[in-house]
Amino acid sequence: MDAVQEHKLGKVTLRIDRSLCVCFGDCVAQAPTALELDDDDVVVLSRPDAADAQSLLAACEACPVDALSVVDAEGREVLPSSLSVPHQGKE
Ligand code: SF4
Repeated sequence: MDAVQEHKLGKVTLRIDRSLCVCFGDCVAQAPTALELDDDDVVVLSRPDAADAQSLLAACEACPVDALSVVDAEGREVLPSSLSVPHQGKE
């Protein structure tokens, strides 16, 4: 499995850097339908479309080591460095 997983959330992208993951599921508690821990207790985006954007953003904010982040179209990190919530919907 790739160290980095990505999932589009409207105009932004949720990025999961599995190499940074060190703990035991704060993010999974926020988005249990989409995230899970593998056999090594490393987060996996197993069903990216199973959770709404709010849950995935909450998971991002819950991560203590920023293994989960949200980046804009230019690759700039917009979460967890700010609390802005991207608009998900029609252009
Ligand atoms: S909250 Fe962060 S460090 Fe903890 S399991 Fe999730 S991705 Fe890994």
